[in-house]
Amino acid sequence: MQAQPHILQNSVVVFSKNYLPLARINIKRAIVLLVTGQAESLNFGTTKQWEVRSPSVVLQVPEHIRLTVGNPERHWKVPPVNRREVLKRDSYTCQYCGSTKHLTLDHVIPRSKGGQHSWDNVVTACEKCNSTKSEAIAYLMKREWY
Ligand SMILES: [Zn+2]
Repeated sequence: MQAQPHILQNSVVVFSKNYLPLARINIKRAIVLLVTGQAESLNFGTTKQWEVRSPSVVLQVPEHIRLTVGNPERHWKVPPVNRREVLKRDSYTCQYCGSTKHLTLDHVIPRSKGGQHSWDNVVTACEKCNSTKSEAIAYLMKREWY
């Protein structure tokens, strides 16, 4: 029997051992954590619960779970933005025009406008695009996103 797809579209909030909310994760990942004993169910009284089935198991998955493994924060900490990794992620091409020359890092939302120095706000850009920012943003908005 297949689990109902709509159930698998839900997400679950993961808490640390110290009950701090860490991240919202896909329900399938939560199932793995529960089944492997790395997390336990939490129930705040208002916590929703979904019944998930596989051919051999029926599992109650709550929308809040708590990690039982030590030092859990380490698993969720995102490493700081690193130029080399950003270039690699963007295949060493300017994300605005596709150039592979004179590459720099660009903040999609400028830091002066509150943009963060974070992985989703930093892209590879050539010097030219970096200096003609408004055209570059217009181009980015037209791009197809996956
Ligand atoms: Zn460019």
